[in-house]
Amino acid sequence: MGMTRDPRTIAVSQGIATDTAFGSVVPPLYLSSTFAFQGLGDQPRYEYSRAGNPTRDILGTTIAELEGGAGAVITASGTAAVDLFLSLLRPGDLVVAPHDCYGGTYRLLVARQERGHFNVLFVDQGNDEQVRAALAAKPKLMLIETPSNPLMRVVDIRALTSRARDAGTRTAVDNTFLSPALQRPLTMGADFVIHSTTKYINGHSDVVGGAVVAADPADFEELSIWSNTVGVTCSPFDAHMTLRGVRTLFPRIKQQQHAAMLIAEFLNDHPAVGKVYYPGLASDPNHALAASQQAGFGAMMSFELASDAAGRNQFVSSLGLFTLAESLGGIESLIAHPFSMTHRAMGEEAMGVAGITDRLFRLSIGLEFEGDLIDDLKQALASMQS
Ligand SMILES: *Cc1c(COP(=O)(O)O)cnc(C)c1O
Repeated sequence: MGMTRDPRTIAVSQGIATDTAFGSVVPPLYLSSTFAFQGLGDQPRYEYSRAGNPTRDILGTTIAELEGGAGAVITASGTAAVDLFLSLLRPGDLVVAPHDCYGGTYRLLVARQERGHFNVLFVDQGNDEQVRAALAAKPKLMLIETPSNPLMRVVDIRALTSRARDAGTRTAVDNTFLSPALQRPLTMGADFVIHSTTKYINGHSDVVGGAVVAADPADFEELSIWSNTVGVTCSPFDAHMTLRGVRTLFPRIKQQQHAAMLIAEFLNDHPAVGKVYYPGLASDPNHALAASQQAGFGAMMSFELASDAAGRNQFVSSLGLFTLAESLGGIESLIAHPFSMTHRAMGEEAMGVAGITDRLFRLSIGLEFEGDLIDDLKQALASMQS
């Protein structure tokens, strides 16, 4: 086309009106597991859906273009996407990961290390000394998560990727918490972007999926081959659903972060609430760094409740609009208790190091009217006093 299009346009228009069979405006869903050869010796564009599928390819192209990458491999889960990235490692190689990374990623890294697949070093990536010491060990890969889950700590993508490059270390940023609508790590020096598309990209809490975006075409090729070799590509149906979700990514996240800002301010002013972790607050220690590398502050936050276990139970059971559930990034608002839910797999010791206490709650702000969400939190906080 030779025309640069805005990411908002890419999200909506990728694959529209491209059907050559019937002129279907929306790309058709090709469920077929296999594709016909025209004759012996034929090389059809698609042969078998584990290796390649037209519906999944439209989703891959869309996510790759949104992130500014050469290509994206679409996987059956975000965890499979992290594991696909880790397939670049050989026994004896070192990967550096954040000490406060997603709980399932932590479990995966430890489990693969225990089986001798590679070595892992967890560091506080906001701590200069720890990063310096880790890179001195010449790791092959570094995984970055920013903002972190659940404490919304922000690390400097440009600084970390440039230091890693100097050490010969390749980097991936898990961009699940912000999506390409709010952060584009490849433009800041990362080699890969990882997504749990389960979250904002699909956005409707009805598909589990993932993606790895590569900046370099050769890396994309290598990961595509490996994803077929181990069979982690996602189903065409899931890809179709996720493509439907990504169409509205930009307007969804715009409204969600608008509501999140108002809710963070409300919580920050409430006497029953302790610390609020939301980089959008001017008082947040991550505010300036987040503003320098993000196009917005997103719709995830966490906060500490200044109360005992009975009060916390009362608060959660009084909520009407926030459902107590894991996951995030959907149209519906959710509340999670990382200590007993999402991060339990880390174990209490690692949670202590990361700063996750039993007083901490995480919110994923959905698309309900923001005034109703604030009213719901207000009445649930009031119920603790009575
Ligand atoms: C959910 C999540 C994952 C894992 O994705 P699944 O789709 O649940 O396998 C990885 N990283 C982050 C930051 C997540 O929130």
